[in-house]
Amino acid sequence: MIVVLKPNLPLEEVEKVIAEVAKLGYEPRPIHGKVQTVIAAIGDENTHQSLETLASWPQVEHVHRVQKRYKLASREAKKGGDTIVKVHGQEIGAGKKFCFMAGPCSVESEEQLMSTAKAVKAQGATFLRGGAFKPRTSPYEFQGLAKEGLRLLSQAAKEYDLGIVTEVLSERDVELVAAHSDILQIGARNCQNFSLITEAARSGKTILLKRGMSMKIEEWLLASEYVLANGNPNVLLCERGIRTFETYTRNTLDLAATAIVKQESHLPVIIDPSQGCGRADLVLELCKAAVALNADGLLIEVHPNPAEAWSDGQQQVDFGLYAKLVKELKPFISAVGRPI
Ligand code: PEP
Ligand code: MN
Repeated sequence: MIVVLKPNLPLEEVEKVIAEVAKLGYEPRPIHGKVQTVIAAIGDENTHQSLETLASWPQVEHVHRVQKRYKLASREAKKGGDTIVKVHGQEIGAGKKFCFMAGPCSVESEEQLMSTAKAVKAQGATFLRGGAFKPRTSPYEFQGLAKEGLRLLSQAAKEYDLGIVTEVLSERDVELVAAHSDILQIGARNCQNFSLITEAARSGKTILLKRGMSMKIEEWLLASEYVLANGNPNVLLCERGIRTFETYTRNTLDLAATAIVKQESHLPVIIDPSQGCGRADLVLELCKAAVALNADGLLIEVHPNPAEAWSDGQQQVDFGLYAKLVKELKPFISAVGRPI
């Protein structure tokens, strides 16, 4: 860590800070400038007590961390390279087969879910998505079919040999949702619900961790740390757009963040273009961008009749558009050297 002291500090005050740095287990290396002293504190920030408390000392101007706060999610932390998550017989991660997760925003009925499962399976999807517990902004909107929705997901999984991705909204439902799914989705609204994330991590299921709509990249990676630190290495980071001033789209899909988490972390990255823009007519273009950014897969909302969907109708693609999308995407996937 770097401790920057206030200008023109008497030497005995400088010495007090140096002594404290040493007391906290770091080796202090002061650099005495003409005006100010800067202390380089040598030591592993991840195993030593933080020096950040020094920031409140009257002698100190500021304290900078040098090491990343995310210990387990960072590339430096993992010597073996990228994490490959193995789930439902598939490997997800760098260089592996590009992963398609598709299905309705919400599970609505047997017919809706089975027809969607059939349609996405025919296009090569290996995971079916669908919410049984829905985090709706208004309590008066459809909240999901809950247990019945989970039962339908299990039925579709069996009938079409698809893995299941579905959201868990509450700690009390983790066991139940885990029993009906392969991947537990932590939604954007819960990405900093650390007790839920911890409970979900402990289920041992793969966690798809959506980025909160106003979360910084560092906060998102620190949220993933709650899964990793609880002994579950199987995390998929999911970029789903952030809230900006723009109104042409529901959210702004943060493509730079995708590239950054790929650089910063060894974890696989999935892009959700559907929540990412909120418009069915833009989903294909954003999927192309996701492939170009070397994302490891896509989470796409597909519905037999989006105009009648019980949630997120404006952003769901119908079967025809989904088939076109997969077809048009294939050359892009091949171009980045990925098996399809
Ligand atoms: C969803 O996937 O339907 C959903 C609610 O996602 P998010 O948490 O990203 O809004
Ligand atoms: Mn949705």
